[in-house]
Amino acid sequence: MCFSWAWLRDKLQEIDNEARELNRQTRCVKYRGHIGHGIYVSVTEGFACVDVRQYYLPYGANAGNERPTKRGIAIRLDEWSQFLNLVPAIDAGNMILAETKPCYDNNDHLGQLGILRCGGCNPFACDDWQ
Ligand SMILES: [Zn+2]
Repeated sequence: MCFSWAWLRDKLQEIDNEARELNRQTRCVKYRGHIGHGIYVSVTEGFACVDVRQYYLPYGANAGNERPTKRGIAIRLDEWSQFLNLVPAIDAGNMILAETKPCYDNNDHLGQLGILRCGGCNPFACDDWQ
């Protein structure tokens, strides 16, 4: 799951922009970003939090119909701001996390087939691609 940390770190600014918009209430906010391995970060109007949650694909459902599991955390907006301040300390305290790069930076992701075969990028793919 280290890859998900790298993905999350990569998307922090994008997520924070949505969290700020949610707090300002100047426009509708409905954001969901994949951070690898079926884990999504959501910022949605009506919920004053950043939700980080594992999703699953129900049996027989097609990709795009993923559903949230109970495995996750809803981070209140004031906690989110504190979390952002802690990210450098988390990286400084754990070299493995700090040096982890998202899988999409790997050379095997240069072609579409590499992305389709990657369990991080495409966690709900059919077995034929893995
Ligand atoms: Zn990947």
